Amino acid sequence: MLGDVALHPLLLPYDNSMFRLAASGTSRSTVSGLEATIDDVTVVTYTFPTDQPEADGTLAWSATTMIVVEVIGGGQTGLGYTYAAPACQPLIEQVLLDAIRDRPVLDVSGAWEAMVRAIRNLGRPGLVSCAISAVDTALWDLKGKLLDAPVCRLLGVVHEAVPVYGSGGFTTYDDATARAQLEQWVHAWQLPRVKIKIGESWGGNVTRDLARIGFARDVIGSAVDLFVDANGGYTRKQAVRVAQAMAEHDVAWFEEPVSSDDLTGLKEVRDQVRPDVTAGEYGFDLVYFARMIAAHAVDCLQVDVTRCGGITEWVRAAAVAAAAGLQVSGHCAPNLHAHVAASVPNLRHLEYFHDHVRIENLIFDGALDPTGGALRPDRTRPGLGLELKRADAERYRVQ
Ligand SMILES: [Mg+2]
Repeated sequence: MLGDVALHPLLLPYDNSMFRLAASGTSRSTVSGLEATIDDVTVVTYTFPTDQPEADGTLAWSATTMIVVEVIGGGQTGLGYTYAAPACQPLIEQVLLDAIRDRPVLDVSGAWEAMVRAIRNLGRPGLVSCAISAVDTALWDLKGKLLDAPVCRLLGVVHEAVPVYGSGGFTTYDDATARAQLEQWVHAWQLPRVKIKIGESWGGNVTRDLARIGFARDVIGSAVDLFVDANGGYTRKQAVRVAQAMAEHDVAWFEEPVSSDDLTGLKEVRDQVRPDVTAGEYGFDLVYFARMIAAHAVDCLQVDVTRCGGITEWVRAAAVAAAAGLQVSGHCAPNLHAHVAASVPNLRHLEYFHDHVRIENLIFDGALDPTGGALRPDRTRPGLGLELKRADAERYRVQ
């Protein structure tokens, strides 16, 4: 009988009695360590204007929105974030908080599962997954603070240094701006790999794309790896023709030559061009990455910790890639990726993305230095090692 079927514990109201017992005699605000539970979550949305107009092959923007989440438990506060839309804020406040309140802080996977089950009828991909990512990363930060350990140590360090590549090179830049950015990356910061945007106007200006690739190669010289990202702007055969035309500039990485939704097209391009074909930045759940890999669509899987479901799912996505013999590359948000990237064996590198670098240096103490081409998680700071500079951030607050 249906009435006799036992509900899975995750579907029942959370029974926190054993944790309250362990903490008896102690006020909740001072409960710490293994017994700490999630007391509250606060959310603030910031919007940062870009330093100048920006565009890639298929989108133009003038501002970047960041949703910052703080999870409170055990008398400490964990910080996480996502780059998404302001609609994440009420979703976290009105749905996700109810799913995780009173759960043990240390059981991040349990809280993550409770959030994913709670949003079943809302749909996981998109903003919902971005919201979960922000909460998950804040939970990992809080866990690190409660155990007085950096998140990379909680996960287990594989790489002491996490390679990065400079990323920006927007189609809106004139030559002087593009040159200044490329020179900052390769000369001031000594980054050995850089990426520019191509596919301008949905593939409508290939002549300028090729000229900008040649220009970038001239500026960086022959010793630096050159990557390009079309953001899905080309058709299949157009992408192959562009790859052939840019061969003289020794491009190593061709990101989203066609739409990431066109897995067959990605494979077709991949089979015909020399650079590695890559995609995955719009992956919001494990199934997305598994499908992309099963279609043989990419040479390197990109995974975004602010979208995929946070650190908890990023590690799993890396494992799925590893099982197929693929490396992973972290997409954007470099300071949020550094610790988890240090913990997976099949890491290639992280994207040191202009907009996010600017924002993270502006509002966080503890943003990492890329000089020499790698980030090194700070083992002297617990959690993710980031402290919000509230006064500096306040002028960008929108809700
Ligand atoms: Mg991209």
